[in-house]
Amino acid sequence: MEEAKYIIPSELKSAANGKCPRCRKGDMFEGPLFSFSSKKMRNTCPHCGLKFEKEPGYFYVAMYVSYVFVVAELVSVCIGTYIITRNMESPWLYLTVAVLATILLAPFNYRYSRIVLMYWLTPAFKYRPERYADVKEGEGVNR
Ligand SMILES: [Zn+2]
Repeated sequence: MEEAKYIIPSELKSAANGKCPRCRKGDMFEGPLFSFSSKKMRNTCPHCGLKFEKEPGYFYVAMYVSYVFVVAELVSVCIGTYIITRNMESPWLYLTVAVLATILLAPFNYRYSRIVLMYWLTPAFKYRPERYADVKEGEGVNR
């Protein structure tokens, strides 16, 4: 067998880039991460054809992941606000910061809750190297 010429991206890197968990090649989302206009998720992987919504309601589980994200973010944002301002009197400052952080981080939470769910909480979506290798000659080698 000929030695592989492509470099298989690491799990974390493909997760961060929103690649399909099975082939690490196809994009799960149509737009880039920080675009508010297009955060649509594809139904199937454009590369290997994996159906992302494994079963009806599968992505409801992502809400729990998202909840954990939000709690962690709010705690860090409030601690950060305290460190910067040393404000102990005004609850409005913390409330404003918390609301802003929630709105600004919403696209991030939406996307990465699903990615965490698919990469680390769904054993059926294990990485299959042969799916990554399954490319036509000269295609996608440098991506
Ligand atoms: Zn795929």
